[in-house]
Amino acid sequence: MEEIRACVQIEGVVQGVGFRPFVYGLALEHDLKGWVLNDEKGVMIEIEGEKKRVDGFLSGLSFPPPIATIEKTSILYLPPLGYNDFEIRGSIEGEERVARISPDIATCKDCLNELFDPHDRRFHYPFINCTNCGPRFTIINDIPYDRANTTMAPFRMCPLCSSEYHDPSNRRFHAQPNACPECGPTLKLFTNLGKEITTHNPIGETIALLKMGKIVAIKGLGGFHLACDATREEVVSRLRARKYREDKPFALMCRDLEVIKRLCLVYDSSRELLTSKERPIVILLRKKGAKIAPSVVPFQKTLGVMLPYTPLHHLLFAEGVDTLVMTSGNVSDEPIAFEDREAFDRLKQIADFFLVHNREIRTRCDDSVLKPLKGTVTFLRRARGFAPFPIKLNRDGKSTLACGADLKNTFCLTKGNVAFLSQHIGDMENFETMSSFEEGVELFKQLFQIEPECVVHDLHPDYLSTRYAMDLDLPRTGVQHHFAHALSLMAEHESVGPALAVVMDGTGYGEHGTIWGGEFLEVTVRGYKRLGHLRYIPMPGSNMAVKEPWRMAAAYLERIYGDLEGLKIPFIEGLNLERWSQIGKAVSAKINSPLCSSMGRLFDAVSAILGVRNTVNYEGQAAMELEQMVEEGEMGEYPLEILEEKATLIVNPDPIIENIVEDIRKAESPFIISARFHNSIIRVISRMAQRMREETGISDIFLSGGVFQNHFLLGKVWDILKEDGFKVYTHQKVPPNDGGISLGQAYYGVNR
Ligand code: ZN
Ligand code: ZN
Ligand code: FE
Repeated sequence: MEEIRACVQIEGVVQGVGFRPFVYGLALEHDLKGWVLNDEKGVMIEIEGEKKRVDGFLSGLSFPPPIATIEKTSILYLPPLGYNDFEIRGSIEGEERVARISPDIATCKDCLNELFDPHDRRFHYPFINCTNCGPRFTIINDIPYDRANTTMAPFRMCPLCSSEYHDPSNRRFHAQPNACPECGPTLKLFTNLGKEITTHNPIGETIALLKMGKIVAIKGLGGFHLACDATREEVVSRLRARKYREDKPFALMCRDLEVIKRLCLVYDSSRELLTSKERPIVILLRKKGAKIAPSVVPFQKTLGVMLPYTPLHHLLFAEGVDTLVMTSGNVSDEPIAFEDREAFDRLKQIADFFLVHNREIRTRCDDSVLKPLKGTVTFLRRARGFAPFPIKLNRDGKSTLACGADLKNTFCLTKGNVAFLSQHIGDMENFETMSSFEEGVELFKQLFQIEPECVVHDLHPDYLSTRYAMDLDLPRTGVQHHFAHALSLMAEHESVGPALAVVMDGTGYGEHGTIWGGEFLEVTVRGYKRLGHLRYIPMPGSNMAVKEPWRMAAAYLERIYGDLEGLKIPFIEGLNLERWSQIGKAVSAKINSPLCSSMGRLFDAVSAILGVRNTVNYEGQAAMELEQMVEEGEMGEYPLEILEEKATLIVNPDPIIENIVEDIRKAESPFIISARFHNSIIRVISRMAQRMREETGISDIFLSGGVFQNHFLLGKVWDILKEDGFKVYTHQKVPPNDGGISLGQAYYGVNR
């Protein structure tokens, strides 16, 4: 019988995820000798014995524990050394440094079984976890990923927990957050005045309070949630009023899939997303008559729902609660609260009670938000469950720090051919978010041992992220916003171009002081050529036009009709013409009215003209509500015009708007008009794609930018381009919105 020895190097997320005990078990199962250890790249194994058994072992490696991700396996065969046994060896000191850090993972089945087993010593223990589940990223202070370097450090394991922790055959072998009621974190319940409520059963009390219609701030994995009964309108609207959040949708947490199915249409692909170990918020179509307070999602046909993902959540739903609002614990646009003191300060005006625990959250991390599309997904927000899982790039390059954009900010640090994209940081418009950004950058540098050699930023001089980059003593480069959108998608697909890119976006800094956002580009990883764009229009009042879509509507109508007074449509009748004439004067004098080619602003304009929304309470609201109105099945579209100016293709949307006005005069249904408008934009993109292909001979096409969060648009554009022979690329790993910008910037830095 031939004996062999195989040296196996495994790279990926393989540390702190139960990989070594898995290897240990596999070796025993195949009766093989050797060792396994964590090293700087991941996990190293030496395995020897009969060839047939070694082969069996190696194929067993392809079914790793649930939260491990193998990126690369290399095997080297050598003569056997005659090992006596199989052992888990200590890590090579100080060398676990580039290893991956796992995101936080939802409670696994085994732990759930124990949680609800009255004979288990962790029965109803809200901090149960194992190597297959539990907190990771949000509790790490430093590397290597050892208990001492997590916020579990103050908790000394009891003898039972310790024996599990040291037993290679145990599910909790080296599970750093391992704990039990004897030795681990505990819960406490407080009033919003900071008075502790003495009880043996804080969860039971909390459930009772929620059922009574109270708002409770609940400390979770990556921050506080504000929770309340989602079926009671008076409670949900009270939460809205206290949170200063007019109508941005609230996310829901439901007890189980059955509850979600009562509220929403759930297809197989969305069920997989909902029950995945990442447990994101999934945006689903709401069923007619779903029993939900209207204030949960005003003006929307969808609901954002998730399933419980910590043991605490599971316990909250164990006693007759079906559906809770679970929204980020913050006021309006501030980042989510994650420290106890801070949470009390900031949330005491909103929450009636606080359910807190004494395991500190090291890093703030919101819930991720996904939208399913044709068996794939669009990220709206990439955070818990995904960050800091890295994205592999096409090549090695200089370590780059990319600062992202100011809305929906993320940052990105690269090392070799790997990009560590941060969790969603938020809108950089207040001190809180800015410090969250700065702390995040420092933490990532430390955790992944990255000393950036260059920094990449947006071209917008007033972005706080740009200013941050300017203050660093590093070589720096600015990358145009929409080129960065395209690059983020190219990074996902490891493409270097040349390719075509259609970037339909809100607003981003262009060239020569203009604002871009409806861009048709020829791109390579090094640069872009602007083949075409949406025709420029002044943005009256600059950023005010983002908050007040009626300004864009008026600007378009004035360009087309000149005099607005004679225009007999409800939008004009409701318009304060005096105010507009003042603003109009500023526009003619080119004061605070930059020219923009933004597709997002065109959607805004149409939304206002149709009477959907004159002002917005959150970014993109007008466009989202316009999308919701589309009458499916309506095939009509408006004529379009593509002009050519100095070898650049200009999409003139004016004929579309004229026809919309005509339809409004004919009292056509706004649902039909919305569909026809969408169909026209789909046609615009398809025509432009054809023209670009004719000009360049390129048929690889990348679709990015925030407007592509509109799935009616994205789905149809995708189909029509594919049918037309294009190879179509869409986002799967990062959001098409500004949350992806930093990855695009980093990709540029690495490929320079
Ligand atoms: Zn578990
Ligand atoms: Zn214990
Ligand atoms: Fe953008």
